[in-house]
Amino acid sequence: MKTAIIGAGPGGLTLARLLQRNHFVCEVYERDASPAARPYQGSSLDLHTASGQQALKEAGLLDEFNALSRPEGEAFRVCDAATAKIKFKTKPPKPGKPNKPEIDRLLLRNLLLDSLLPGSVHWGKQLDYVEQVGQTHILHFANEPQSESEFDLVVGADGAWSRLRAVLSPEVPIFSGVTAIETIISKDLVRSDVDELVGHGSLIANRGTQSLWCQRQGDGGVSAAQYMRTPEGWVAQCGINWEDSETARVALVDRHMSEGWAEIFRHMILGSGAEIWPRALYMMPVGWRWNPKPGITLLGDAAHLMTPFAGVGVNLAMEDALELSRALLRWGGDGRESLTEAIAEYERPMFERAQLNAALTWKNLVRNFGTHE
Ligand SMILES: Cc1cc2nc3c(=O)[nH]c(=O)nc-3n(C[C@H](O)[C@H](O)[C@H](O)COP(=O)(O)OP(=O)(O)OC[C@H]3O[C@@H](n4cnc5c(N)ncnc54)[C@H](O)[C@@H]3O)c2cc1C
Repeated sequence: MKTAIIGAGPGGLTLARLLQRNHFVCEVYERDASPAARPYQGSSLDLHTASGQQALKEAGLLDEFNALSRPEGEAFRVCDAATAKIKFKTKPPKPGKPNKPEIDRLLLRNLLLDSLLPGSVHWGKQLDYVEQVGQTHILHFANEPQSESEFDLVVGADGAWSRLRAVLSPEVPIFSGVTAIETIISKDLVRSDVDELVGHGSLIANRGTQSLWCQRQGDGGVSAAQYMRTPEGWVAQCGINWEDSETARVALVDRHMSEGWAEIFRHMILGSGAEIWPRALYMMPVGWRWNPKPGITLLGDAAHLMTPFAGVGVNLAMEDALELSRALLRWGGDGRESLTEAIAEYERPMFERAQLNAALTWKNLVRNFGTHE
């Protein structure tokens, strides 16, 4: 059996590693031109014992993960937005108990990439559409005449705006009502009071329907993201020129943080000296699922895009990869009928997991940011 995985994010790469480790033939097709195409992939991720870490354990990569990750990054603080006083902080994790150490996205990606067979990740390959011919599939890429054929199974691990999703359902992501605006303060620009307040982990300060999330990164820098309720299309229509980071940071703070925010929080946006990335947060409807289709399935954000307010997205993506690989292993690689059953065996509990977590993150969103009305 030959498998194509679309997308070299954490979900797709975990699946590739698990399949290759069990001698399945699989190729990964990634839109990025190279592994270095996006040096900053977003703030760091915590991997949970039963999902992200379990997938790495079965991939034979847990020791390397333990060497690269930061257990102290699990620390979490809640601050008063106006005074910057700490209102709550977690206790350090107990040795031997379930934990969720942090790892930088790039380190996780490289850990997985380095574990794959040389040449099995194809860069600069943006999937356009999939054509079914008999019992196999042909992949067609954007801006490229050459296609790839003869795949028995195609797995869409291509994230929020998955192209493969369209083969399974006409449903598209809906705007959640919240936009995140993120910047990163490099280590040398982290002010001493910021250093102390953020500590080794994450910090949140809430005010009305706004929430500032700050997080220590592996290189000592600090990411700062302002989450706020906005109308759909706000990023393009708000009049802030996001291309000019300096004026964008000033405009954001003037318009949205001038009152009720302590100086230290305004400084985290103003003083970053770095790019600023606005991201409108989209989601699939809670409980969305598709009818099974032979030889095609999805995992991770492609399967269940949700907002980050339950902190589980990457863990679900890696758990999906683990469960799909287990289902394929049980099946063993022979016969189309049972491949369809193996996929259904993976999809049924995945839909349940996704629905539970999507409902939780939606509940958290409503609690923090209110509803559209
Ligand atoms: C602001 C924010 C904060 C978050 N914080 C957390 C957190 O703290 N904890 C957590 O667990 N999760 C968090 N998440 C969610 C987490 O980032 C995702 O759930 C996770 O990255 C999903 O992994 P994935 O492999 O499914 O998709 P992705 O990481 O999106 O990877 C998809 C890959 O597919 C590629 N691709 C896309 N389209 C194509 C195409 N047509 N052809 C080929 N390749 C393609 C992309 O380039 C990418 O490499 C956060 C998300 C956001 C937006």
